[in-house]
Amino acid sequence: MDKNKQAQLKQIPGVDRILEYGNQGKQFEGVPKSVLLPAIRQAIDALRTAVLNAPTPLDADRFSMAALVEAALDSARRAMELNLKRTVNATGVVVHTNLGRSLLSSRVLENLKTISSRYSNLEFDLEKGRRGSRYSAVEGILCELSGAPAAMVVNNNAAAVLLCLDTLAKGREVIVSRGELVEIGGAFRIPDVMAKSGAFLKEVGATNRTHPRDYENAIGEQTGLLLKAHTSNYSIVGFTKAVSLADLVSIGRKHNLPVMEDLGSGTFVDFSKYGLLKEPTVQEALESGVDVVTFSGDKLLGGPQAGIILGSKQHIDRIKANPLTRALRIDKMTLAALEGTLQLYRDERQAVEQIPTLAMLTMPLKAIEARAAELKSRLDALSQAGLTVELMDSASRAGGGSLPLLNLPSCCVGVQIGGISANGIERWLRNSTPPVIGRIENDRFVMDPRTLQEEELDIIEKAFERMLAENRRGR
Ligand SMILES: *Cc1c(COP(=O)(O)O)cnc(C)c1O
Repeated sequence: MDKNKQAQLKQIPGVDRILEYGNQGKQFEGVPKSVLLPAIRQAIDALRTAVLNAPTPLDADRFSMAALVEAALDSARRAMELNLKRTVNATGVVVHTNLGRSLLSSRVLENLKTISSRYSNLEFDLEKGRRGSRYSAVEGILCELSGAPAAMVVNNNAAAVLLCLDTLAKGREVIVSRGELVEIGGAFRIPDVMAKSGAFLKEVGATNRTHPRDYENAIGEQTGLLLKAHTSNYSIVGFTKAVSLADLVSIGRKHNLPVMEDLGSGTFVDFSKYGLLKEPTVQEALESGVDVVTFSGDKLLGGPQAGIILGSKQHIDRIKANPLTRALRIDKMTLAALEGTLQLYRDERQAVEQIPTLAMLTMPLKAIEARAAELKSRLDALSQAGLTVELMDSASRAGGGSLPLLNLPSCCVGVQIGGISANGIERWLRNSTPPVIGRIENDRFVMDPRTLQEEELDIIEKAFERMLAENRRGR
């Protein structure tokens, strides 16, 4: 190592001296010890690395106590930031699993706050004055909205499927079409969940075609359940045939076997009414006579993470009695948010307006264009700083394992900056506060206004301002 570097390394003060200096100057006041010591060590390590990597000796002021205290404080502040942070979704993917799937309606937040900060009748029957069931908060409204005779809710839909299979088919065979052995992002696979439940998967048909006789031929002594899984995140097109739920129900009736459908992205709203693709609704599934149907609370329903199970009283009662329910049970905050969300569905127009997932999916192109133009004009004001902004016809997606074939026409804002690559912009915005997540297309950083909230144009504008200022300073 060269002499200069060795001399500079020797100038770096130790932890104790920095600690003492910062304590005396009161700069470290209020920083917890558990955070402070690692932060000081990190500041020292960073300076050491800078010395070792610098082509020429570093400026002397980098070695001052004041500079090291400031660096340690910076590192302490970063360490104390919350890890789970509000993030701006400019991807145009509405139910974005990595970014939190559905946003709760502001109409449910007040109730959520009250229920989680106060005692509640979570498991207390106020009328009878004795222990009650936590499911009763949403059972009634779920039955009212869907037409189901009985209802039950658990932590998420994966749990719902596991619980249903464990209750209805443990140790027996479950017949599923090969075209429906779905994998949902985040490691939910029908065959794996089946294995965990203790039921045995019996695949029938071919990937592209399954006929009623395939189910009929597979039914035997060991059969416990016929399962239909909604191919919620893919579609098989071309020379295809699937057995309809109604036909599966008649096969089940004939052989005295229960039929279950895992809808995944279940919805109460018929999206085709809003010019979108047809997704089977929960009501339609129940009308076809299915014994049990399961779906997520935070996909197309637009509520909190939850798994909803609807069906005949006989089956739901058995499911409720399964000891697994205790391990999969829904939390009171979720229950409060779910009840609030479900209430909005009593008036479909209100649901579509007030539930963010539905509002974003049905957002008129005109409204998206207006928001894109607004964002463009805000960013255009920064164009002297080397920024080019353009509007681009593009498509948003429903995401989250729903409506896989749906391309929602959208109008996006594409940005290029002289001297910063699209990847560079993406990285900078992803690491800003709050993080802004967009996508890269044709060497541009692209933002889709469909998934932006009202106040987020401001956040984006300010983030670009800071990025450009930093870029100028850096040069
Ligand atoms: C999304 C999905 C699941 C898993 O639901 P989670 O709520 O994410 O646990 C299961 N099955 C299907 C068909 C799905 O689309």
